[in-house]
Amino acid sequence: MNHYDMLVIGSGPAGRRAAVQSAKLGKTVLVVDKGRRLGGVSVNTGTIPSKTWRETVLNLSGWRERGFYGLGYRVKQDISMDDLRQRLQKTLDYEIEVLKNQFMRNGIKSIHAAAKFLGPNRALLTTDLGDMTEVEFDHALISVGTRPFRPDNIDFTNPRVTDSDAILDVAALPRSLAVVGGGVIGVEYATIFSALDIPVTLIEPKTSILDFVDQELVSDFMHQMRDRGMTLKLGTAVREVVAKPDCVEITLSDGRQVRAAMLLYAAGRSGNVESLGLDVVGITANARGQIAVNKETFQTAVSNIYAAGDVIGFPSLASTSMEQGRVAACHAFGRHLAAPPQTFPYGIYAVPEISTVGLTEEEVKASGKAYECGVARFKETSRGHIMGVNSGFLKLIFALDTRRLLGAHIVGEGATELIHIGQAVINLGGTVDYFVENTFNYPTLAEAYKIAGLDAWNRMGAPQPVQS
Ligand SMILES: Cc1cc2nc3c(=O)[nH]c(=O)nc-3n(C[C@H](O)[C@H](O)[C@H](O)COP(=O)(O)OP(=O)(O)OC[C@H]3O[C@@H](n4cnc5c(N)ncnc54)[C@H](O)[C@@H]3O)c2cc1C
Repeated sequence: MNHYDMLVIGSGPAGRRAAVQSAKLGKTVLVVDKGRRLGGVSVNTGTIPSKTWRETVLNLSGWRERGFYGLGYRVKQDISMDDLRQRLQKTLDYEIEVLKNQFMRNGIKSIHAAAKFLGPNRALLTTDLGDMTEVEFDHALISVGTRPFRPDNIDFTNPRVTDSDAILDVAALPRSLAVVGGGVIGVEYATIFSALDIPVTLIEPKTSILDFVDQELVSDFMHQMRDRGMTLKLGTAVREVVAKPDCVEITLSDGRQVRAAMLLYAAGRSGNVESLGLDVVGITANARGQIAVNKETFQTAVSNIYAAGDVIGFPSLASTSMEQGRVAACHAFGRHLAAPPQTFPYGIYAVPEISTVGLTEEEVKASGKAYECGVARFKETSRGHIMGVNSGFLKLIFALDTRRLLGAHIVGEGATELIHIGQAVINLGGTVDYFVENTFNYPTLAEAYKIAGLDAWNRMGAPQPVQS
């Protein structure tokens, strides 16, 4: 029987990081994944594909240049699904090559099979062909991720109905699109397709979208969506979807109807826990297939079995999953780490981008803390003029008593990169004076931090001199 120090089930961001960290600590590691290729949802159907499509669409449509050359500007006139697929294929091949190489260099074994627990130190691996192997392990990490939730009242066998996995395989770009789900995935795809001049309707049962984001950003973002012709149907759910020869007809709970050539259902995901044999080891999952863990160590109810990534629920990001996997591996092998900062960034790769870190204005208000905001519009920066950027802004929130930065929120070009300045200042305990006293490269979009800092500083005043 094969024995490993660490058995990793699932090769997405959490599993990959845990495997590499365990190997770096000199441990033997086996990664088991039942998917077609290594890399998990992140590489194969989620993060990398959607971001590659987005980049392709922005490049070929000339989106970033329209502020300068006008709304009619296009780099390529007829963009097809093949254009999107070609770049995606190359990107994925490269990502997987890098991953395989990383496993090889670190002596990590991987196998294409489904894993099922037989006990707290034993698992059964079954290949697609039905071959079975038993393995023993000292520690295991459950990083099996999630799959799109498919409600019973929607027929996903209809070729006009798709989800965020299957969308990568649709034959051609639709003439119109209805997206159900105003969360990150729904909003990203809705705006990417809209940037291709495809009429898009976004349907969301709640009365707003992206409810964890600062509402000032959300209203600016929704304004931008409506401004370019997207239809938002908020506060209404899907009651019925009927397939017609040339479209899907979606009846909403308020009686309104939406017709579209394709429906993308992107509302919720469920953990892949059913076939893991969790009951054999005494681990339970909730109704959404999420496993409870110790939030510091990522141990499940069984101390040598860890869980990380989307299968443990919030925040369900590739970025946070990687860290969770690394922390779990370090804990398993006695490398204790300092507690990570509570604050981490969210990147929403919609068109335009949104990124946010720390407290929203609504959260600060609810806490009763006295605060001041500073705002900078990208069009106020010279870099913004050069780039032809005519929308987007940065909002900083500072505590009045300590002058510390509490939150940074950006909508617009480069938001997901720029946010890390705000993240560093928050996590290092920086104040408004950091932005005012420091020199920023010029011309950059990052200069918006200086402008927003000054905007707040002008109302907050200079810091009180220290009494000697
Ligand atoms: C469309 C989309 C866009 C996204 N964009 C972003 C983004 O921009 N930024 C970001 O940070 N995050 C993004 N995410 C989220 C990100 O993809 C996930 O947070 C991340 O992939 C979760 O990683 P994971 O380690 O939990 O495993 P996953 O990536 O979910 O992989 C799990 C793996 O486990 C395997 N598996 C399941 N069951 C078994 C079993 N019994 N035996 C063996 N193997 C098994 C599966 O085959 C799969 O390969 C996006 C997600 C989607 C769907």
